[in-house]
Amino acid sequence: MCLSAVNFRSGAVLDLVATAVAAHAAGALVCWDLSHAAGCVPVDLDGSGADLATGCSYKYLNGGPGAPAWLYVRRELQSQLRSPVWGWWGQRDQFAMGDAYDPAGGIERFHAGTPSVAGLVAVDAGVQPLLEVGMEALWAKTSALVALLAAREEARLVPLGARIASPSEPARRGGHLAVAHERAWPVVRLLVDRGGVVADFRPPDVVRLAPVAAYTRFVDVWDAVERIAGVLADPASGEAVPPRRVT
Ligand SMILES: *Cc1c(COP(=O)(O)O)cnc(C)c1O
Repeated sequence: MCLSAVNFRSGAVLDLVATAVAAHAAGALVCWDLSHAAGCVPVDLDGSGADLATGCSYKYLNGGPGAPAWLYVRRELQSQLRSPVWGWWGQRDQFAMGDAYDPAGGIERFHAGTPSVAGLVAVDAGVQPLLEVGMEALWAKTSALVALLAAREEARLVPLGARIASPSEPARRGGHLAVAHERAWPVVRLLVDRGGVVADFRPPDVVRLAPVAAYTRFVDVWDAVERIAGVLADPASGEAVPPRRVT
């Protein structure tokens, strides 16, 4: 089964160890989607009994659009599993070009075709500053930013009709929070159009805010919530915001 370690909408974090134990007891393997965890929430794949994991590198890993996806396969499974995507980079002898597909022995068998060098260079540059700071320090700042964000949302947005749509226990929160409001879409558009706050909208009614530790200050969190409160407090705001495709 495939599960998100950090839910893309609510930011809820699952217990990797308990999930692996339950899955293995039922004869299942777990593939973790780490798209909203990698580079943000510390994850111990080897130590938690994880079987497989995958994710993108254009979110917290700063690779930008076109950055490569990646894969983790527990060592014992590497020679048992076969990638469904066969390519010459996954062959034991890359240049054999024979009739039969003969995959390489280890993690190399999960390679497919020729990678985008531009994408790899970008993600290399994006990850470097995170490695210099270290996941522990990054996560310490992220947790504090998210705690401030939760407190400010509670104080300023809930009285204006918003509902916190993320777990309240800090241990179950990842790097972003969701707040639900019936005017979520116009609020997000107006925040972008007026500049300064880039939140995103997730249907049907969620505003998602991710105070990324590497480049977000505590005062930014404070100011962002003040601006959202300003928009929510004005009932006329958003009347002229047409629906549009969301990415
Ligand atoms: C961003 C994201 C991905 C990445 O998908 P791509 O096809 O690589 O763009 C996967 N899963 C979730 C939950 C995501 O949020």
